[in-house]
Amino acid sequence: MSQPLISYSSRPTLRVNLENLRYNYQSLKERSGNAKIGASVKADAYGLGATQIGRALYGAGCRIFFVATAGEGKILRDSVGPNSAIYVLNGPSPRDKGVLLGAKLKPVINSLEQARFWAQVSRSVNEPPYTAVHIDTGMNRLGFDQEEFKEFARDRSLWNELNPEWVMSHLACASDKTHPMNATQLAKFKKSAAQLPLTPLSLSNTAGIYLGKPYHFQMVRPGIGLYGGYATTQPEQEDIRTVVTLLAPILQIRNISKGDSLGYNASYIAPRDMQIAIVGAGYADGVPVLASNKGFATLHDEAVPIVGRVSMDLTMIDITNVHMHKEVGGVVVFRGDQLENEANEIGTINYEMLTRMGQRLRRDYGKPDKNNQHRN
Ligand SMILES: *Cc1c(COP(=O)(O)O)cnc(C)c1O
Repeated sequence: MSQPLISYSSRPTLRVNLENLRYNYQSLKERSGNAKIGASVKADAYGLGATQIGRALYGAGCRIFFVATAGEGKILRDSVGPNSAIYVLNGPSPRDKGVLLGAKLKPVINSLEQARFWAQVSRSVNEPPYTAVHIDTGMNRLGFDQEEFKEFARDRSLWNELNPEWVMSHLACASDKTHPMNATQLAKFKKSAAQLPLTPLSLSNTAGIYLGKPYHFQMVRPGIGLYGGYATTQPEQEDIRTVVTLLAPILQIRNISKGDSLGYNASYIAPRDMQIAIVGAGYADGVPVLASNKGFATLHDEAVPIVGRVSMDLTMIDITNVHMHKEVGGVVVFRGDQLENEANEIGTINYEMLTRMGQRLRRDYGKPDKNNQHRN
């Protein structure tokens, strides 16, 4: 019986490089001219951990944050303290009233109904409300639609009661700078804003920043770029660094014969004699089931195919052709510099790969010794 040569834990690790996060913040800030940065930290900061990410961004100078729900806002408030504006994108829902007021969160107003509700709430608590107003300019997701906007724009008393600090909209196709919808939305946004009292404006997510100055206005709202994900179809224009790496140990190495099956449903039949590593991370950790027999991980910077169905706690990879050292306890890497390639391979997007990170992962926010290179 051979003993493992190296010490390792069976628990997978999510490594978050905060130094690179700060680098990305600065890089996006420089791209955005004089516009402020309102960091999008919804969904637990895209799966990275809102508390740690909030604190790091605050340290980098960020004072405006966007979350999706009141609960996310409350967690963030505890992390960033009282001096930051926290906007709740999904609006003021009646049941979240207490949390919104208690944590001094600012709901984004998306409809007349929300406007009237929040004006009424603000009246009852004797505090000036602080809000942002979201106008839909073609995405047809959240935000005032054309009809409601007309009515809202006419009702100055409602406007005054809500005291909006920002008027915002959201771009549908900013990742592709040749898409005609960008200019259409920009024009619609300007036209709508002109019907409202003069208020600072915000239109762009990460991808919108790369559309250039006309899209920056007074604030941009990047998310994915902060976390090291490419936002556009031209990644070479994006000066960002990798933030997220998922590391998992090899738990067992086995040699299988041609014709042997692998894993649940025997969905993989070995076409030849093979060497397989059983890796200690599964779909509960964020390796998508969609990656079964399709995706890949990396070992010693080499891509290694995922074989068989990804299971809850384990993933199998084909290491037959890896010639570097292979041993139990060896570290297999998911995401990292391969984030977009892994996502493309299985038909998803980098955003989902990040937000699916599991609860069980050990989270390491310490300074790594490598991987602080530009992504391109
Ligand atoms: C999520 C979101 C953002 C951030 O988008 P990224 O593509 O991650 O930069 C900005 N604005 C709104 C309204 C959003 O929902």
